[in-house]
Amino acid sequence: MKSSTKSQPRSSESQPRSSRSRARQSPPPDPARVKAILQELARLYPETGTALNYADPLQLTVATILSAQCTDQRVNLVTPALFARFPTAADFATAPVDEIEELIKSTGFFRNKAKNIKQCCDMIVKEYGGKVPRTLEELIRLPGVGRKTANVILGDAFGLPGITVDTHVGRLARRLGLTVHTDPVKVEQDLMTAIPRSEWTSFSHRLIFHGRQVCTARKPRCEQCTLAPRCPRVGVNNKVLATTPPKPKKTRVLHPSRKRSRRKNPRTDSL
Ligand code: SF4
Repeated sequence: MKSSTKSQPRSSESQPRSSRSRARQSPPPDPARVKAILQELARLYPETGTALNYADPLQLTVATILSAQCTDQRVNLVTPALFARFPTAADFATAPVDEIEELIKSTGFFRNKAKNIKQCCDMIVKEYGGKVPRTLEELIRLPGVGRKTANVILGDAFGLPGITVDTHVGRLARRLGLTVHTDPVKVEQDLMTAIPRSEWTSFSHRLIFHGRQVCTARKPRCEQCTLAPRCPRVGVNNKVLATTPPKPKKTRVLHPSRKRSRRKNPRTDSL
């Protein structure tokens, strides 16, 4: 299944950061190739949507803040008790922060997350009447909510199309030749141009699934990947080589007698 990479564009992952940061444009990908990638991803992952459990936009916002540096499964273990104790944004906003901390401790970085959840809910109460706002611009103003979280909320809670660029989506978009950028905002813009709007949310989820299961960061399984015929695998060879440990240097060990014979003869030197 492997395809030649000789004629492929150079890896953005292999280039020095200074040259990567220079202004570049991603060449528009061939629409037929993009369509085939979308069809194959839909065949591979027919079910899409976040694995986080939630009942409303507020719960998804809190769960997504908790999911930073934590698995969705772990978040799903703590949220039932958390949402039962604090059913509304006002409940979170007025809660003692140590009470939130205690309930979310096992998700890691719990002090920071508790502070963000409390401040986020405080802003939702004071500026948005207790309801999670529905636009990207408003969502990214909330403490603890970046573009990634905002797009998850837009797509999953409100059904509004959004492209979530996390580490998997960024990496796969580059390998698939859909962007040359590493900056998540530029990757998002390239994908918004290349992918039909109606598919933005499902495409993000499917790329995340594929990144976790097949096209992993350290060792993409290209030989088993059904996207391979449509994938230029930009940067993959260099990436794999980069993870191969370097060969140890050969050091010559001299026999003690040879070491002695190499010393200068003081008598000869004085002549
Ligand atoms: S596993 Fe290989 S062929 Fe599949 S998407 Fe990743 S880089 Fe492309």
